[in-house]
Amino acid sequence: MPLSEFDIINEYFSKLTPYDESIETGIGDDAAVINTPAGKQLVICTDTLNSGVHFPEQTCASDIAYKALAVNLSDLASMAATPAWFCLNLSLPSIDAQWLTQFAASLAELANRYNVMLIGGDTTSGPLGVTITAGGYVECGKGLTRSGAQADDKVYVSGYIGDAAIALMQNENNNDETTVYLQQRLNRPEPRIALGLALIDIATTCIDISDGLIADLQHIAQASQCGMAIQEQHIPLSPQYLSCSEKQGAGLQPALTGGDDYELAFTVPVQKQPLLEKQCEQLDIVVTCIGGVVEGDNVTIFDAEQNTVTYQETGYEHFR
Ligand code: ADP
Ligand code: MG
Repeated sequence: MPLSEFDIINEYFSKLTPYDESIETGIGDDAAVINTPAGKQLVICTDTLNSGVHFPEQTCASDIAYKALAVNLSDLASMAATPAWFCLNLSLPSIDAQWLTQFAASLAELANRYNVMLIGGDTTSGPLGVTITAGGYVECGKGLTRSGAQADDKVYVSGYIGDAAIALMQNENNNDETTVYLQQRLNRPEPRIALGLALIDIATTCIDISDGLIADLQHIAQASQCGMAIQEQHIPLSPQYLSCSEKQGAGLQPALTGGDDYELAFTVPVQKQPLLEKQCEQLDIVVTCIGGVVEGDNVTIFDAEQNTVTYQETGYEHFR
C-alpha cells in the first residue's frame, strides 16, 4: 500500500522535534495550542520555496529543507526575536520515501540546533513547494523593524555579501573548494540569530538581505523615510567572490543586486558604534560599516572616487 497523507505525517514529521512545556497541543490535532511567555511579543513570519523559482529542480531534499527553515529563522533574526516553533506546509508531486527521509533529517538537524519545535503543518499533492511559518518571541517593544533609522546613523552588514548570487553564476557540479564554499553559502545560509539578539538596544533598524543589498536597503530607507549613502568599496566580499567575479567580469553587480545572502543589514547611531563593535567581537561576529543614513529618500551607491554608481536592477522581484 502506498503511504497516505497521514502515514507521511506520522512517519516523518510527528516526532521531528521534542516539545517543551510551552506546547500544550502539537501535531495531531486541528490546531496547535501554545503557552506564550508573559511579557513577550509573538513575532511571526512565513516564506515559501517553490521548485524552479527559489531552487533549481535538481536541488537535493536536505538542502531544500535546510533553506526553507533557515530563511524563516533569518526573518526572525532580523526582528531580534528568539525562534520558538514552526509549521510546515509541504506540497509533493509524489511520495518518495528516500526524499522524505533526507528532508526530515535535515529539517530536524537545523530545528534542533536552534531549539525550534515543529508544531503543525499541511501535506498536499502538487508541484514541489515548501512553505514554513515560524514564530518567535521578543521582549515587549524590543523588536527591530525597518523603520526608525535616523540621519547620521551608520549602515552595517554582517558577513560577506554576494556569495549566493555569484554561486548561481558558477557550474555547481565543480567540486573545487571555491565552488563548494559558494554552494554552501547559497544552499545553507546561517540564520544570524545571535546577531539579531545582540542588536537589541543598539540598532535602530534591521532587515535580512534576501532580495538584494540595494533592494533591501531601499526597504529600510522607505520605511524610515530616509536616504542612504553606501560606499561600494566597503562592501565585504569573500576571497571566493572576488576570484569568481573577476573571472566572469561581474564586478560588484551580484553583491549589490543579487539576493539570497541572508546576512543582516542594519543601522546604528554613531554613539552606539563602540558598543556594537564590542558585542560583535565577544560573539565572534563580523560586521562591516558600508555607509550612512542621510536625508532624502534614496539609496545612493558611491564608488571609490565618490562618483555615483547606478544599477538597472536593485534586486529580485517576482512577476517581473
Ligand atoms: P486538518 O485536516 O485538521 O487540517 P491535517 O489532516 O491536515 O489536519 O493534519 C493533521 C495534523 O498533522 C495536524 O495537527 C497538522 O498540523 C499536522 N500536519 C500535517 N502536515 C504536516 C506537516 N507536513 N508537518 C507537520 N505537521 C503536519
Ligand atoms: Mg481539521
